[in-house]
Amino acid sequence: MFDPAEVQLVFAPDAPRCACGTLEAFSREPSIPIVFDAELNEYHIVGAGQEKVMIHHCISCGGRAPASRRPDLFMHVSLEEMERLRQVTQGLKRLDDVIQAFGSPDYDQPAGYGHTEAAGSGPRRTTWHRQMIFGGLSDTANLHVAIGLDDKVQFSFMPKARD
Ligand SMILES: [Zn+2]
Repeated sequence: MFDPAEVQLVFAPDAPRCACGTLEAFSREPSIPIVFDAELNEYHIVGAGQEKVMIHHCISCGGRAPASRRPDLFMHVSLEEMERLRQVTQGLKRLDDVIQAFGSPDYDQPAGYGHTEAAGSGPRRTTWHRQMIFGGLSDTANLHVAIGLDDKVQFSFMPKARD
């Protein structure tokens, strides 16, 4: 069952596990763009640009795909820690505030964060943001800072990889 303490997405957690084997069979067909990632224990759809979209449910029977190993590969971020990080970043509005509070980032990526809006019937719009990552704020999470117009910032927290 869904554990609200785990920071992960669960779609239709009560659906039965897929037992029809369609995903496994398709992942073995070179001409079908479904692949199995053995390390993560996940099935993905692979796009023409090699981008990957995770499959949560079988495309034939609707059953749940096998349980991802991501929670084993990444640290658990407790709700308490998430709240602490939210408070630490509260009130920081612009890049200058962030640098003043946390110093230099561990990574500074010119187009590190992309965001696509689903726009009704019109064309979809994708915006790229400069992104900085700070690893020193927490033992379990990295702080991701997306930087927008006028150096306005938006924060996300990502679990760190386990050693
Ligand atoms: Zn199935």
